[in-house]
Amino acid sequence: MIKIYNTLTQKKEEFVSLTRGKVKIYNCGPTVYGYFHIGNARNFIVVDVIRRYLTFRGFEVTLVQNVTDVYDKIINKAKVENLTPTAVAETFTNAYFEDLEALGVKAPDINPKATEHIKEMHDIIGLLIEKDAAYVSEGDVYMDVSKVKDYGKLSHKNIEELQSGARIEVSEKKKSPLDFVLWKKDKNEGISWDSPWGKGRPGWHTECCVMSQKYLQHPFDIHSGGIDLVFPHHENEIAQVETATGNKLANYWVHNGHLNIGGQKMSKSLNNFLLARDILKKYSKNIVRFFLLSAHYRSPLDFTEENVGNAVKGFSELGNTLYRVAGILNKPLTDGPADTSLAEKGIALEAKFVAAMDDDFNTAQAIAALFDYANEIKNTIKKKDWVLNYENREALKIAGEKLTALSAILGFKIEAEKIPAEIEALALERETARNTKDWVKSDLIRKTIEEKGFAVEDTPKGQILMRKIK
Ligand SMILES: [Zn+2]
Repeated sequence: MIKIYNTLTQKKEEFVSLTRGKVKIYNCGPTVYGYFHIGNARNFIVVDVIRRYLTFRGFEVTLVQNVTDVYDKIINKAKVENLTPTAVAETFTNAYFEDLEALGVKAPDINPKATEHIKEMHDIIGLLIEKDAAYVSEGDVYMDVSKVKDYGKLSHKNIEELQSGARIEVSEKKKSPLDFVLWKKDKNEGISWDSPWGKGRPGWHTECCVMSQKYLQHPFDIHSGGIDLVFPHHENEIAQVETATGNKLANYWVHNGHLNIGGQKMSKSLNNFLLARDILKKYSKNIVRFFLLSAHYRSPLDFTEENVGNAVKGFSELGNTLYRVAGILNKPLTDGPADTSLAEKGIALEAKFVAAMDDDFNTAQAIAALFDYANEIKNTIKKKDWVLNYENREALKIAGEKLTALSAILGFKIEAEKIPAEIEALALERETARNTKDWVKSDLIRKTIEEKGFAVEDTPKGQILMRKIK
């Protein structure tokens, strides 16, 4: 049974999809006014893993991840750069897709752009005005929050608490500070559309409502986003859709936690934004993913050199397991009894991985299961009474394949590259030295191998070469 923590009910709930065997997910995509940062990357990767895992569990998943290509920040950026808002949006939309791919995120099935859904936005705004739940004020259109049933139900705050919140815009044009804009009057900002209420552009919260309706229909299964989006963005999506149509918007609301930098929240004032593309210059996508998935998605995560350094070590350790497997598979077969313990433990560890992921996509525990699996392999080949007969060799091969396949569900690729001939030759030389008990020479060769970035491990079956862990 898959359980998902639902922000709406504040409980872990059994996941039951609306259509048997199918899951529809809407994740709020980027606002394209700059390159996305590592906090955004965390959201995209978390959703990518949820999608991969549900696919592994047999669901046919449809993921919609929109592009917000009209918004205040895009207009401001365009002013600063002396460009059109459309040009800014286009540049960073392209960069967004490049960076997603560089992070190993599978392209979402549908990538709608807000600017291509203006007509649908007019429709929902018209419906809200018709229902007296929205009003026109000096060319702007606002949602009348007093007409919304259960406003605040997603963020679990009452109206007074929400009103005292810092993130709502105060304006003379609004009846109440909580009312939010559905349509903004054009101020000659270089991007506008005609509408029944005059020239203008849509409000952000309206964009996602119509794109999720168009491609998934309300209600759909999972709506996700970063924790920052709970209020006002997602609260306001619910307010519009449920007021306009009477339909529930989505069944499960999934929000990932903050990513901090050295213990501090990323912010403009601290100038500590880490762009995903800059991090990828220093670390591989595998390391970035391994690091971002090393904590449960709802927990805050701290990006520090030390934490990422641990991810580098951990990931290399998993990779070395495959070098161990490959190294042993290369050795000659011998006779002896079959040992079924690796195969049995493999089944138990796969079940542990699945149980962790079933429990609200607990990637931290799932990664722990991968390490248990890696240790099991490592300990098995070190056992003196474990012989390399046909059955045991097959069991080892399968264990290596299983570890690789489970890692792939988290979207990282562990692999053992071919050992360079030069290193193989050194290992052979070392073996000869060991056979003649020339320990000094054997040690010297070990050091040479390590200087070249590799390591040698002695097992009862002989030496195994692998990557040296820095
Ligand atoms: Zn959204």
